[in-house]
Amino acid sequence: MAIYIALGANLGDRRANLIAALEALPPLVRVDAVSSLYESPPQPPSPPPAYLNAAARVETDLDPEALLVHLKRIEHDLGRRPTVRWGPRPIDLDIALYDDRIVDTRDLQVPHPRLDKRAFVLRPLLDLDDDLEHPATGERLIDLLARVGEADLVRVERRGWHERPHSSE
Ligand code: ATP
Ligand code: CA
Ligand code: CA
Repeated sequence: MAIYIALGANLGDRRANLIAALEALPPLVRVDAVSSLYESPPQPPSPPPAYLNAAARVETDLDPEALLVHLKRIEHDLGRRPTVRWGPRPIDLDIALYDDRIVDTRDLQVPHPRLDKRAFVLRPLLDLDDDLEHPATGERLIDLLARVGEADLVRVERRGWHERPHSSE
């Protein structure tokens, strides 16, 4: 197992925001691998515009609570401000999985509680490791993805996108 962060952006220069977030993670959080880049329509109740999504496999000595604080700090630094729940935002950083740990406190639930319903999280995670299982239920993420379907998800750039200049190929 490892630690996986789900990234999303649907305001401003979405791609640049995701790259800025990846670059802001070190040195406290080391990025081992980044998934392909996907575009997904906002899922109700989230309003448009569409999201860009990706996932990162990371290593860190921060415990889950401290990692969440770090992620919220990066969101704030990238211009995210509190607004209505699920409102549009320049960046969203969620802890998808933290090894096989299960956390269920007021401020933090890991695995992310809506992971199993979201192709835009499951597909990027499976890009990184295709044998991932849900630590609480033991279900394979590939089976969860088959259940929810991924027809709405468009892969817009292959792995390595965050290291390349943007191209419209
Ligand atoms: P969703 O949780 O459905 O993806 P969201 O990401 O838009 O919605 P936010 O407004 O970003 O929700 O976060 C609301 C709160 O969720 C955060 O302040 C945080 O305390 C809490 N939270 C609980 N579990 C997690 C997690 N695994 N990763 C990130 N935040 C979490
Ligand atoms: Ca989220
Ligand atoms: Ca969030």
